Amino acid sequence: MTTSAHAYGAPTSAADPLAAITIERRDVGPLDVRIDIQFCGVCHSDIHFTRGEWGPQQYPAVPGHEIVGVVAEVGAEVTRHAVGDRVGVGCMVNSCRDCDNCKAGEEQYCTNGSTLTYGSIDRDGTNTLGGYSSSVVVVEDFVVKVPDGLELDVAAPLLCAGITTYSPLRHWGAGPGKKVAIVGLGGLGHMAVKLAHAMGAEVTVLSQSLSKQEEGMRMGASAYYATSDADTFKTLKNSFDLIINTVSAKIDLNAFLGLLTLNGTLVSVGAPAEPLPVGVFTLFGNRRSFAGSSIGGIRETQEMLDFCAEHGIAPEIELIEASQLNDAWERVLRSDVRFRFVVDSSTLSA
Ligand code: NAP
Ligand code: ZN
Repeated sequence: MTTSAHAYGAPTSAADPLAAITIERRDVGPLDVRIDIQFCGVCHSDIHFTRGEWGPQQYPAVPGHEIVGVVAEVGAEVTRHAVGDRVGVGCMVNSCRDCDNCKAGEEQYCTNGSTLTYGSIDRDGTNTLGGYSSSVVVVEDFVVKVPDGLELDVAAPLLCAGITTYSPLRHWGAGPGKKVAIVGLGGLGHMAVKLAHAMGAEVTVLSQSLSKQEEGMRMGASAYYATSDADTFKTLKNSFDLIINTVSAKIDLNAFLGLLTLNGTLVSVGAPAEPLPVGVFTLFGNRRSFAGSSIGGIRETQEMLDFCAEHGIAPEIELIEASQLNDAWERVLRSDVRFRFVVDSSTLSA
């Protein structure tokens, strides 16, 4: 038994533009909650995934993993959420809960593979469909609470862009006395700047040009450089303790690794399809590290939301209707977004 929902997705193939479709959501099980989705952020991953850049997908494909809304129905055994609660769902909707990583609260590294919000095989064998939709049914443990201090529309991008940058900043100790560089000032990048600044780090933005400098400085950066200027890499050599690369395309990582100081780490959260070659001799110099990081666990996602509410941090968004999604994607691909598109889910049925 299922319930129909309005959605936007690629109906039959990776080459399709997004179109209005009707999808089915499972009925609420004992531990499930049904969420009436109010807003969903537009992540660059939505584009990589739907267009098959990360490998073949099943269609229809419905992207969207920055979901916020209101609980509409709860299962008989649900204890964490109640009808009317303001809640969010990020990139995962389930995991095994039994492996060491899940038990440590790092469900995104579930050794049996976490169930992603879209493009995964769910427990019932169906293909998961994401948040460009009017409702979703999710097991209660993978639903987080949106604190009162955050409006729902601006809270949406925190569910991916927020946690994906918060987690490595925390893990690698961004804070007072640490020099942190953020590469790329898009959806993830602008959250990384705000979060690293709020954690007390000294923040530098490394963007393709200086066109967003004013905004970057307002968000908390104390310096801003264009990577199109070769002098940037000379001026900033051996400067940073931590670099977070949020770029969605292939870049010359070795040039950025050269900006790390002794024992510094470059963490890539950007996920281009192509491999990113790293020269070992660049790592040898200054005993540098190169790392990756994937979203964050459920407990840490709640911690990040509470941190944002406490520090008055919110993503900067452009609210759009569903019919504008295809144009919005083209603008994301041109790095022409300030700084995250968010879909108003009430426009999905139009
Ligand atoms: P986005 O809004 O498009 O931001 C990416 C930024 O990268 C752009 O704003 C641009 O910044 C820079 N950029 C784009 N193309 C570039 C190029 N050819 N050369 C140099 N810089 C370029 O994307 P997003 O939503 O923040 O996502 C960023 C990446 O993170 C995507 O690959 C996404 O799939 C990935 N991601 C990973 C995780 C994870 O768990 N690891 C989670 C979410 C997203 P400037 O204009 O400032 O140069
Ligand atoms: Zn995302």
